[in-house]
Amino acid sequence: MDYISTRDKNNTVNSAKAIIQGIAKDGGLFVPKEFKPLDNIVSFIGMPYNELCKHILSCFFDDLKYGLDEAVSRAYDEKFIDGVVRLKDFGDVSFLELYHGVSLSFKDIALSLLPQLLQLSIVKENIKENFLILTATSGDTGKAALEGFKNLDRFKVAVFFPNDGVSFIQERQMITQEGNNTYVFRLLGNFDDAQSEVKDLFSDTEFFKELEKRELKLTSANSINIARLLPQVVYYVYTYLEALKMGRISLGDCINFCVPTGNFGNILAAYYAYKLGVPINKLIVASNENNVLTYFFKTKNYNSNRNLIKTSSPSMDILVSSNLERLLFDLTKDDELVKNKMKELKEQGYYNIDIGTDLFYADYMKQEEVERSIRFVFDKYNYIIDPHTAVAYGVYQKYLTETKDPTHTVIVSTASPYKFPKEILKAFNISTTDELDSVNKLSILSGTEIPTQILNLFKQDKTREIVVEKGKMKEKLLNTIK
Ligand SMILES: *Cc1c(COP(=O)(O)O)cnc(C)c1O
Repeated sequence: MDYISTRDKNNTVNSAKAIIQGIAKDGGLFVPKEFKPLDNIVSFIGMPYNELCKHILSCFFDDLKYGLDEAVSRAYDEKFIDGVVRLKDFGDVSFLELYHGVSLSFKDIALSLLPQLLQLSIVKENIKENFLILTATSGDTGKAALEGFKNLDRFKVAVFFPNDGVSFIQERQMITQEGNNTYVFRLLGNFDDAQSEVKDLFSDTEFFKELEKRELKLTSANSINIARLLPQVVYYVYTYLEALKMGRISLGDCINFCVPTGNFGNILAAYYAYKLGVPINKLIVASNENNVLTYFFKTKNYNSNRNLIKTSSPSMDILVSSNLERLLFDLTKDDELVKNKMKELKEQGYYNIDIGTDLFYADYMKQEEVERSIRFVFDKYNYIIDPHTAVAYGVYQKYLTETKDPTHTVIVSTASPYKFPKEILKAFNISTTDELDSVNKLSILSGTEIPTQILNLFKQDKTREIVVEKGKMKEKLLNTIK
C-alpha cells in the first residue's frame, strides 16, 4: 500500500518509508492512499485479536508482510494480561478497556507494535544508521514509548516530561524506567515548553549534523506516525465483532463509539474502522475544558488562540489536535486546501472549514462534571473509571439526553484508574495521607487488585532522571547521548 501526504497528494512513499519518516517532508501527515472495505466483515467473528490484527495490518503494510505476523505476536504477548483489550458490558452501555498493557494506558497498544514495525521498515529500506526516538509527553506516551523501545538494538529512546503537569504515578513510571537505551529528562517547564522544544529539534539542521556524527537518525513516537495510528483501528473492528458475538447488537445494527480525545488520534482510528466497513452511527468526540474540538465540530471554526487549562485528564490537555488534519484530508481529498488551512492555523492560530459530515458529535466536560461522572458510574455499575474515561462517559450522557439515540454505545476507556488514584478519590471526598495510601484506598473502593506495575513503582527506590532547564534540551541531549 502506498501512502500520500495530506499536503501533497503526489508525494507518495511505501509503508516502510512512511513509518521511518514519521512526518512527510512537506510538513503533511502520511495517510493510506486508499481504504478497501474488509470483505464480508462478519466472517471474522470470533477471530482472536492477534489474528485479526495480522489480517488488517497486512492490508495496510503489505510491503512488510514477511515479518508482520511475528511482529504482532511479539508485541501482543503475555505483557497484556488477559488479552490486549477487554469489553466490559453493562447492557445499556459498554466500556472498552484498553489499558491492560505495561504502562496502563491505551498507548501501549500502538507503542508495543511501533518498534517492531520500525525494525521491519529499516531492514526493508536497508538503513545503516541507528535511531533516536525523541518524544515530549504529557504523561502516557512517555512511559509507553520507553517500554516499547527498551533494550531494542538500534534504538535509543529519549523522553521529556514537564516538571509541571504529569500525575505522580505517571512521573514515577518514567523515573524508575529500566533499560540500557532509555533516557528520561525532566524539563523545568510545562508540556507546551517540552512539546515546542522537541518540535524545533526536528527541524534543527545543526542538531541533525550532530546526530549524523553519532550515526543516528531522528524519529518520533507520537501519533503523527501512521504506524501508531493503524494498530488502533484493529480494536474498533474487534469490538464491533465482539458486540455481535455476545448478542449486544444484531447483524445490520450500527454501533457508536465515544472517545476521550486530545490529539484526535484514537478517534481517527475509529473513523478509519468505519471506512473499513464497521457500521458506525456516531463517533462521539469527548473533550475536557480544552474544548477546541467541541467548538470546531459545532461551529466549523478551529481556534487554538487560548490558554491551555490544566485538568484532571492531563493526556487530553492539548490545543492543537494534529490528527484532525488527516480527517480534513479524507473528507475533502484536497491537499491544497489542507495545506492552506494548516498554514492559517500556524500563522493566525485558527481556520474555518465545513467538513460536511454528521458522523461526529462533540461536547466537553467541566472539572466538576468529571467528578460527578466518576461517582455516577460507580453508583450505577459499581465500576471505577479514570478521569479521561469519565470525560467520555459524561459526554455520552449529554448526547443521550439530547438525542435519545438507541444505538448501543461503547465508551472507550483509555487509562487505568490506578494512574490517577488521588483524582478519583477526590470525587468521593476520601482523604489520603500519601500516594501509596491513595492506591490502597482505591483498591478497597473499587474492589480490584492493585496492578503489579503500580506496586513495583513503590518498591523501586532507585530513580533516574536528567533535569533540564528550558532552552537547554539540545545541549543536554547531545551531552548525554554519545
Ligand atoms: C493520549 C491519551 C488520550 C488522548 O488520545 P488522542 O489519541 O491523543 O486523542 C486520552 N486518554 C488517555 C489516557 C491518553 O493517554
